[in-house]
Amino acid sequence: MKKQQIYHALKVDHDICYGCTHCMNVCPTDAIRINDGKALILKKRCVDCGECLKVCPVDAIFVEQDDLKNIFDFECRVALVPSVFTGQFPTSITEEEIFSVMHELGFTHVFQAEFMVDVINDLMNEQSLTNEDKPLISTFCPSIIRLIQVKFPSLTDNIATVNPPVNASAAFYRKMLIKQGIAEEQIGIFYVTPCAAKIAAIKGFEKYHDSINGVINMQYLYNKLYVKIKNSTKEEKELPVLPHLSSKSIQWSLTRGEADNMNGKCLAVDEIHNVIEFLELLENDEIPVVDFLELRACDQGCAGGVLLHGNRFLTVERLNERARQLENDNEGVNWKEHKEIIKDKDLFISKLDSLPAMSLDQDFSEALKKMERIRNLMCYLPGIDCGACGSPNCSALAEDIVQRKANLSNCVFLQRTMEKSKKLSGEHAIRLIEKTWGKDRLDKDCRKKGAKNEGM
Ligand code: SF4
Ligand code: SF4
Repeated sequence: MKKQQIYHALKVDHDICYGCTHCMNVCPTDAIRINDGKALILKKRCVDCGECLKVCPVDAIFVEQDDLKNIFDFECRVALVPSVFTGQFPTSITEEEIFSVMHELGFTHVFQAEFMVDVINDLMNEQSLTNEDKPLISTFCPSIIRLIQVKFPSLTDNIATVNPPVNASAAFYRKMLIKQGIAEEQIGIFYVTPCAAKIAAIKGFEKYHDSINGVINMQYLYNKLYVKIKNSTKEEKELPVLPHLSSKSIQWSLTRGEADNMNGKCLAVDEIHNVIEFLELLENDEIPVVDFLELRACDQGCAGGVLLHGNRFLTVERLNERARQLENDNEGVNWKEHKEIIKDKDLFISKLDSLPAMSLDQDFSEALKKMERIRNLMCYLPGIDCGACGSPNCSALAEDIVQRKANLSNCVFLQRTMEKSKKLSGEHAIRLIEKTWGKDRLDKDCRKKGAKNEGM
């Protein structure tokens, strides 16, 4: 499979977007600008966290994903299902029942994405003990990996080189099927994703997803399955026999799922703004020595993924309940039994590169000069952070000006003072506003949100 360097799963439908700025205001990496009345995502800065998708009032932001019918391009159609998917269903519905209904949708095989968790946990513990760059940062959440690459490049060396379980499991299943006599090109593995970041990672920028062919939106699949499960009778079914995973595997994608199983001093931080705050402290050497960091972009880990149907707290409780039922039941996957199938290259990734998108210039002395100019510009900007210029806040506008992507006159407050001192004509000021907010933005429109004929 040929991969692009950078891929983003989140897109804006400009026919629907009306430039309300909600997305721009919540983006943790200042990756959104408003231009011509529409939201524009700056690809270099976006980390596919999905915060913008959550707040858009008109669903103009969507995830690009594979169509379910793409699975039929393959004879052997594998669904790779993470435990948070089963956490969408009440615990009275077993994993076996859910998987059996997935077969009815056309999948020939349904496997658990956490199959390799116990193996990965051992390797991560080994690496955490020996790693010189403390703390070792988990590879689990692709949005966090991207965040570190673009916003905290000096911490990129702290990212582990152990493959996340989903990729190691996909590699394992692919090899197992090949061993059973199925030709490699006939095998299509589709990951059922709880978030946009995993779509972006699988389709684009990461180096470790070669075993996965496509991604299915979890919410879409849940809706399809729910109807089928509701209408099916338990007695009729021949249920698949699944490998018994350890309770640890079931809880792995939840907050503390990894950290609670690592040796040494381990911290777990979830929700992207919390993670950014923590990484800023870490970068400034304000955190005492920690051996391992579990960082997740979503609140409650994958249970808070933007493509989940259910409430994240309910999902956590259901998975904890499923894990409790397994606690005394089994030891998890015996790694040694599979040693001849899985090789080191399936378990490790090479060191990731930094992709600094926030640095002002590649040349250090130029970057310092630009920083000085930003500070200078901030003396003139009002510091209101209103977003009326089309940039998320005054400091982002100052940066856009220094990078020659905007002008001081984009600030609506400065426009007034420029008009007063005759440095800007009224007509020019209107043209500037139209450039940011679109030509008809200032026209009377009684159908817009909150107006007297809203929605007519
Ligand atoms: S939140 Fe507002 S500006 Fe952003 S995409 Fe949706 S409609 Fe457009
Ligand atoms: S996905 Fe996250 S980083 Fe990207 S534009 Fe949306 S809020 Fe910003």
